[in-house]
Amino acid sequence: MDEVLKATQYSGIKEANTRIISASQLGADPQEVLMRYKYGIIDDDTIGQNTLGSLVHIALEKIYSNKKGILVEYCPKPIKIDDLFLTGSIDRIDIINKEIIDIKVTKTYAIKKMIEGTSEAYRWQLSAYRYLMYRETGDDFKCFIEAWDKQGGYDVRKGEDIPTKQKIEIEPYSYEQVKARFRKLVEFVKKGVEKQCDDVFLRKIKGKTVPLKCLKYCSYNKVCKFYNPKVETVMTGWDV
Ligand code: SF4
Repeated sequence: MDEVLKATQYSGIKEANTRIISASQLGADPQEVLMRYKYGIIDDDTIGQNTLGSLVHIALEKIYSNKKGILVEYCPKPIKIDDLFLTGSIDRIDIINKEIIDIKVTKTYAIKKMIEGTSEAYRWQLSAYRYLMYRETGDDFKCFIEAWDKQGGYDVRKGEDIPTKQKIEIEPYSYEQVKARFRKLVEFVKKGVEKQCDDVFLRKIKGKTVPLKCLKYCSYNKVCKFYNPKVETVMTGWDV
């Protein structure tokens, strides 16, 4: 079980009081990054929907760990602005073909969004990895998501095969854009003026607008002053 929980944790710098912005946070709302700066990582030891993802990561790490020209769970040298480090732990790197591969275990709908290029958070994450690798090696890498579909297989209703695994190339942001975004987040965090996240998950439920992101996806909702517990009452009876 410990191994499952460890599988999604960053294994790079661990010094006390080190402040980091991880690659996966680069596309996050600045308020969430500020919350992490103030409160650190809020542990979530529950075994939920991420458990399958962790198991797939462990299995793939073991399969690829001894392959020639492949690095798994690689942490490139972090980059610092002020006292904040940009860090990343890359699922797999193909050194020979200069490919960065991030593994996602998700549903058909989310994979469709990746293929359409509408997943900005993932695009920033991969771009950050690419920038870290460029700074370390001087080489330009291509970025890919290896998407594993939890709903993959034969769909009886549609009468078609849904691929279980797809390799999707992600168009990265330029190194300049990554640097600018990292700097903007550092400035926001250092200023420390909080603001409500733009909630891309707003839903109209029973005639009321509910910030679903705060409620369902944000681990800082117990400490963030913008989280309104009243939404939980609104959500009663709904599968969130
Ligand atoms: S609780 Fe809501 S506003 Fe606060 S950081 Fe999380 S998503 Fe943003």
